[in-house]
Amino acid sequence: MELIPKDIPVEFLQILPEGIKLVSRHGHPYLVMDRVEDARGNSLMDDAVHIHGEPSVKLKVKVGHTEGYIFVDAYWGSHAKLYNFIPDFSEGKTVEAFSPVNGSSLMVPWKCPIDGCDETHGIELRLPGGQNTIIVCGKLGCPGHHINVAHVAEGVSESLSNINYFGEGEDELFSAI
Ligand SMILES: [Zn+2]
Repeated sequence: MELIPKDIPVEFLQILPEGIKLVSRHGHPYLVMDRVEDARGNSLMDDAVHIHGEPSVKLKVKVGHTEGYIFVDAYWGSHAKLYNFIPDFSEGKTVEAFSPVNGSSLMVPWKCPIDGCDETHGIELRLPGGQNTIIVCGKLGCPGHHINVAHVAEGVSESLSNINYFGEGEDELFSAI
């Protein structure tokens, strides 16, 4: 999996919200989720499973009749994931995600902006303070995601949300642990 550098809006870097950090890799800047939380403020970061050298975001998920944990790449716009179970995609790729800390639902209503995706549920990750949120499409493999940051112009939020490192490719599907 190779990370391809993308332009990050300067306006966003000036107001970089808590929970997102800027890292440099091979001389290129990337945004990385540093701390995302469930609705109660519990951290979802997992220090035991690293992807691209950074702690991953750990989610408890149900897919069809199967359930387990997924570990999501904290690099903004990357869709790399690891699974600790074999997900059953026979009824579709929509997941239900929960906090691994207390089992509370992370699902919120949303309209996926990606052409050809009709998903109506997203996974909400909160940044510290509870004001700023990241919503990821509830359909695994869909690159749809959006960041809602207070006091940032909608255009900046849009261009940021459109950063996808791996396009609409397939998930990396294998068992992690
Ligand atoms: Zn989608």
